[in-house]
Amino acid sequence: MNKDWLDKDFYAVLGVGKDAKADEIKKKYRSLARELHPDKNPGDAKAEERFKAVSEAYDVLSDEAKRKEYDEARTLFASGGFGPRGGGSGPGNFNVNLEDLFGGGEAGGFGEFLGGIFNRGRGGRAQPPRRGQDLESDLTISFEDTMDGVTVPLRLSSEAACGSCHGTGAKAGTVPRICPTCSGSGQTARNAGGFAFAEACTDCRGRGMIVDDPCTACRGSGRGISTRTVQARIPAGVKDGARIRLAGKGGPGERGGPNGDLFVQVRVTDHPVFGRKGDHVTVNVPVTFVEAALGADIGVPTPRGQVTVKIPAGTANGRTFRVRGKGARRKDGTNSDVLATVEVAVPQSLSADAREALKAYGEATTDHDPRRDLRTMAGSGARATAAQEA
Ligand SMILES: [Zn+2]
Ligand SMILES: [Zn+2]
Repeated sequence: MNKDWLDKDFYAVLGVGKDAKADEIKKKYRSLARELHPDKNPGDAKAEERFKAVSEAYDVLSDEAKRKEYDEARTLFASGGFGPRGGGSGPGNFNVNLEDLFGGGEAGGFGEFLGGIFNRGRGGRAQPPRRGQDLESDLTISFEDTMDGVTVPLRLSSEAACGSCHGTGAKAGTVPRICPTCSGSGQTARNAGGFAFAEACTDCRGRGMIVDDPCTACRGSGRGISTRTVQARIPAGVKDGARIRLAGKGGPGERGGPNGDLFVQVRVTDHPVFGRKGDHVTVNVPVTFVEAALGADIGVPTPRGQVTVKIPAGTANGRTFRVRGKGARRKDGTNSDVLATVEVAVPQSLSADAREALKAYGEATTDHDPRRDLRTMAGSGARATAAQEA
């Protein structure tokens, strides 16, 4: 599996439909290969590029197993999902993305084979530095962690050379031997349509080497998993669903290339009391009718401890009070606010004394009709009717 597969439409490259039969693919490839072959187009960089692309497409689509894998990878990627995502359970939970799983694969393969064709005669050019892979990880943090930000150790796995055989695929104490069919070049000549061109050696599958005694740890693939831990700094104020880029925390660069980036998909667990509105923290604060009517000093919880808020006499249900500087840390070093909304709580049961007191209150306020405006605005259509709960 090659990570480049996801960026490439091999069907479009060959100009065939997604459901093209093997025969059609072969025919199309042959005519394109003839037209674009480097021997026919000396010095034509564009034709060379196209020929490489066509050859690569054919390499995949002509192999039933590879084609299936390619189709599946493309479908998977197009649908946006991959792997056991979500369901995070605290710091350290991680998933590794496609790049991570499909990348690497340094040993052998089609790229090497093509490199063989096109670099022939150009001398042993040193391989250029390569940027490390971008990695992706999931992380679940608590609401409290978002107030000041948090540093979380993230375990990252990525593909690496097998530790037992150092990537050769051969069992400890043995070494791979040079493929006798292709003499180690990884390619054989094939005569097609009147001219010969190189194709990947089928005996060594283009690797140029044959492993007689496969490494037991990696079953001869030469590939393993390396795990490392990075300290990921999650900034304050991060919101649920945010995707954070941590520059240089991805896969290590090769041959002096820069490191890749780490992308962290952040989930923030819901808090039982606090919510978010933009930058600010919200909280609902129950008050009694008496407190709302007479005014009171009420205790309001904030992420930075409880504060006392003076609510004035005649505070309406649903009124919001701003507590400055007790919310999440902002980039400029200040804190956002807490927006406290009062909710008048109606008692569900009353003592006899309280009932008497409320009755007395009712009698003292018979001149206050809270629904007068409502009736006026609703017009003359209003008629007395039995109370009905909605
Ligand atoms: Zn191994
Ligand atoms: Zn071979």
